[in-house]
Amino acid sequence: MKFNTKVIHGKQKHEPATGAVMVPIYQTSTYAQASPGKHKGYEYSRGENPTREALENAFAAIENAKYGLAFGSGLAAIDCVIRLFKPNDHIIAGDDLYGGTYRMFTKIFSKYGLTFTFVDMNNPENVSKAITKNTKMIWLETPTNPLLKVADIVAITKISKENKLISAVDNTFATPYIQNPLDLGADIVMHSATKYLGGHSDLVMGALMLNDDKLYEQLKFTQFAAGAITGPMDSFLAIRGVKTLAIRMERHSSNGMAVAQFLESHAKVSEVFYPGLQSHPNYEVAKKQMRSFGGMLSFKLKDNSQAAAFKLLENLKVFTLAESLGGVESLANHPSTMTHASIPEPERLKIGITESLIRLSVGIEDVEDLLADLENVLKMV
Ligand SMILES: *Cc1c(COP(=O)(O)O)cnc(C)c1O
Repeated sequence: MKFNTKVIHGKQKHEPATGAVMVPIYQTSTYAQASPGKHKGYEYSRGENPTREALENAFAAIENAKYGLAFGSGLAAIDCVIRLFKPNDHIIAGDDLYGGTYRMFTKIFSKYGLTFTFVDMNNPENVSKAITKNTKMIWLETPTNPLLKVADIVAITKISKENKLISAVDNTFATPYIQNPLDLGADIVMHSATKYLGGHSDLVMGALMLNDDKLYEQLKFTQFAAGAITGPMDSFLAIRGVKTLAIRMERHSSNGMAVAQFLESHAKVSEVFYPGLQSHPNYEVAKKQMRSFGGMLSFKLKDNSQAAAFKLLENLKVFTLAESLGGVESLANHPSTMTHASIPEPERLKIGITESLIRLSVGIEDVEDLLADLENVLKMV
């Protein structure tokens, strides 16, 4: 099955009782039993719910995975993965992670004795060098948020295998339309389904996809035992969202490229970060592992002041100034005061999240309207 078909039909069944084409919203916490322990495979909705099951199957299908798991948020999905480990275990992660992931690693799990090393994954050698006898996992995000750095998934997962580590890839920015980390050697794929998979800015959800039976058993156990599941209503919305993923991503990618090229040639802009531009430092790796380049990009202004960035952001008309990304509507964001404010300032500046850095989630509107909106605000700074 090819991708456009898979998002609609992959591992999906019509509802057996009525033939309903869309899975019903099984809005129930519990299920009747004929006698104690005698039931139809469903006991309690933290463990299993038919709507969530249908979603988990759809998630598995789009990442070419055997298994899918759905959680109450992207961070809940990451939390489930990190619970595989115990005190003194060591995890290597990229130095330009989603701010919430960085916060969870450094503020929550370091309290429980896990240790983390953050390295620039542009160069896979940095990962090799960071491995210690306690290293258990490599956590990879590519492209990264907000600087769109690209890491070589094949090279890094190869290092992971050679050292018998688990590799996990946060594939939120790319989506399975653009890259499939499991096919490139990763053990676990993670998504904030809040973003492109849901696609309509109407839910908060996380996903894990994987092939390994034993790893799945452990993660499924944690999902049940720690309980950070997603509910049936949100599951239904996400199934609906996933069905249009391919066609949305096609437009996100073409609009993203047009906006990136427009900004790159604009006199008020000093730098554009988009993996589809030849000026991107890892353009060759991006071209090798990504089918297109998506709708996320960041840029800096020649006037590198917070005031200039704020003026631009306050005057946008089609783009909405908001956190989050991946919905049909275009959003703009100021990482250093919004999504990435939880990273201490010296760290932030070191990795390049400066005062004028602006992140765009380019939506699927007519690109002429998006370019006109940007042209108008760039006149003001
Ligand atoms: C949003 C996001 C997350 C966290 O997901 P939530 O659904 O907000 O909990 C993790 N990684 C990336 C890349 C994200 O953009």
